[in-house]
Amino acid sequence: MPVILRIAVPGNPLRRYFDYLPPADLDPARAAALAPGCRLRVPFGRRSVVAFLAEVATESPLEPGALKAAAALLDDSPLLTPAVAGLCRWAAAYYQHAPGDVFAAAFSQRLRSGRAPALGAWRLTDRGAGLAEDALARAPRQREALAALRAGDALTDDELTAAGIRREALRELVRKGLAERCAPGPRSARSREAGPALSAEQASAVEAGSSDLGHFACHLLEGVTGSGKTEIYLRLIAACLARGEQALLLVPEIGLTPQTLARFAARFDAPMAVLHSGRAAGERSDDWEAAASGRAAIVIGTRSAVFVPLPRCGAIIVDEEHDASYRQQDGFRYSARDVAVKRAQLEGCPVLLGSATPSLESLHNAGAGRYRHHRLTRRAAGATLPALDAVDLRRQPLRAGLSPALLAAMEETLASGAQVLLFLNRRGYASRLQCHDCGWVAGCDHCDARLTVHRRRKRLQCHHCGAARPLPAGCPACGGAQLLAGGLGTEQTEEFLASALPQWPLHRVDSDAIDSPAAMEALLATVREGDPCVLLGTQMLTKGHHFPAVALVGVVDCDALLFAGDFRGEERLAQLLTQVAGRAGRAGRPGRMLLQSHYPDHPLLRAILERPYAEVAAELLARRREAGLPPQGQIALLRADSPRAGEGERFLAALRRESERSLPAACQLVGPLPSALPRRAGRYRDQLLCLSPDRASAGRAAGALVRAGEGLTAPRALNWFIEIDPLETL
Ligand code: ADP
Ligand code: ZN
Ligand code: ZN
Repeated sequence: MPVILRIAVPGNPLRRYFDYLPPADLDPARAAALAPGCRLRVPFGRRSVVAFLAEVATESPLEPGALKAAAALLDDSPLLTPAVAGLCRWAAAYYQHAPGDVFAAAFSQRLRSGRAPALGAWRLTDRGAGLAEDALARAPRQREALAALRAGDALTDDELTAAGIRREALRELVRKGLAERCAPGPRSARSREAGPALSAEQASAVEAGSSDLGHFACHLLEGVTGSGKTEIYLRLIAACLARGEQALLLVPEIGLTPQTLARFAARFDAPMAVLHSGRAAGERSDDWEAAASGRAAIVIGTRSAVFVPLPRCGAIIVDEEHDASYRQQDGFRYSARDVAVKRAQLEGCPVLLGSATPSLESLHNAGAGRYRHHRLTRRAAGATLPALDAVDLRRQPLRAGLSPALLAAMEETLASGAQVLLFLNRRGYASRLQCHDCGWVAGCDHCDARLTVHRRRKRLQCHHCGAARPLPAGCPACGGAQLLAGGLGTEQTEEFLASALPQWPLHRVDSDAIDSPAAMEALLATVREGDPCVLLGTQMLTKGHHFPAVALVGVVDCDALLFAGDFRGEERLAQLLTQVAGRAGRAGRPGRMLLQSHYPDHPLLRAILERPYAEVAAELLARRREAGLPPQGQIALLRADSPRAGEGERFLAALRRESERSLPAACQLVGPLPSALPRRAGRYRDQLLCLSPDRASAGRAAGALVRAGEGLTAPRALNWFIEIDPLETL
């Protein structure tokens, strides 16, 4: 029987695998024994590319004579585990994405480029091991190296360097046939300390999670910030390490703080791998290899770490599972949270989703009995949650968006020695520049959007495409000199507060002011000292950080959040406000949170003010069910963009016509319609939405839509793609 290699070829948009014959010089028996997850170099078009073996087959739709042979096999054994290779195949099919890109996401950059794994170790050969202790008497450095290798097994470069062993001595041992390179082996991993005595709620969650080690099960852990979720993660990881297994912890993009890492390092004497985009590519590749070789017992990472192969994956934890950063928003669009659940199923291990504000998807699954639901209702160490109040903005005199009530509360809080956190989710000085004489408004040349005024940098900037130009002195349309800045941004509030409350330090926290993790660390260090100050910031302030000395939280512009237009808008607002509230009042200080709004009686605002998140979420979930919206049904979104107006709409209309016959009857198509931002960075954007009542029909519909799109000849320069379970449908 012929051996056909089904290969995922990265760097091309085609949603399919490519069949190749094994390399001509490869022994047929070895070819037949190849397993998914090996890398091969294959001819593709006129190029030669590093590609990934997805499956070994015995037949191909193409004649064997028509198949090309792969050029070379790059790995003796697969670099992906069977579970991760299976996960990649599943993800390519579920998300209707090119398998080459999906498989590429599971490899480190070093391995994608075709280079060999670098993280090697050294061990003695049989001859080296058999050598007498007092041999090599005239080469003391080699003798030390020999002794070190005798004491440990498969020591890595780092370990040997730390032990004072020189590379030259090792090379000399290799030359003499006494030592050799090998893959690094696992290291012992153990807990240094047991941790505090658990509350009854914590203990029952830990017990439930640990008793599921060894098989697939989903747990949802719902607990406010500071209620002891991380402590539960630590215990589950400890139980996992005790079984000799590895644990994978996923964190949101900016949730991975040095304090979190320090807490893990303090608790465990175990090699850790840390995978996030802030690290240098080389370091990341090393840590990928530490995880994949089984050496790292604890793997902590952001979104893409969900694909890192682990030979002994024992548990998967997703912290702040509701967080939008788990969704990859370009290229291979996937949800790391959802992929984590699928992965746990393939690995046969438990998955724990934790959040103060669980997504409606996870609550839905818990309600349906698919997830076990654990709640932590109290904060550890007796801290209380802040009391919430609305501030009615109607007819109030506002200064830089702040009402007299909020300003008075700020002054009172600062005078009492506590800190204030102001949340305003718009950076820049003003969101609009308008001429008072003729009404001209500064707009972006490339998007259907207004330009934001950045006064400090003296320029106008588009927050959608990044285009910028100098701040005009007068109106370009009529020459008028009166330009009005409308729509409040953080720079403006900062400027006002600097003059209104000059005696208190003020820290602006947005991506203009804080442009590196180091800058954020420096700020946090200052704030943690606890002296009274005002923190004024965007979304950046609401994630991952605890501010124990904050006793007042002000939400400057609730109205901007109330009318988001997207079907997830209300869920997001409830999560955001609960998360912001959770930043404050931890050290036994009863905090306060003031929400400024022109609609203090808005039902959602009232619900958030008066009831806990769990109740608000249950109500939102009931409404989604009535409307047949996710998590009740499933959404797929086809998006098209083109440099010419109307082209995307025509393409999607044709796609709709082509697909309609093969679409399951229960699926509903809406569109094509222009996107909420119809033109962005010079491209016109349209969309077609497909709503399905269940997973099975959603999968069939997505397949039918993609096939219809692939059957059409798209105009030049038109891009189209499908997004499964999109976060936003605007
Ligand atoms: P979360 O992850 O929900 O924000 P943490 O696990 O970080 O909560 O716990 C908040 C604080 O309470 C931490 O300082 C932690 O050390 C402490 N803590 C957690 N559980 C306990 C416990 N059972 N006994 C005493 N302190 C605890
Ligand atoms: Zn004008
Ligand atoms: Zn723009």
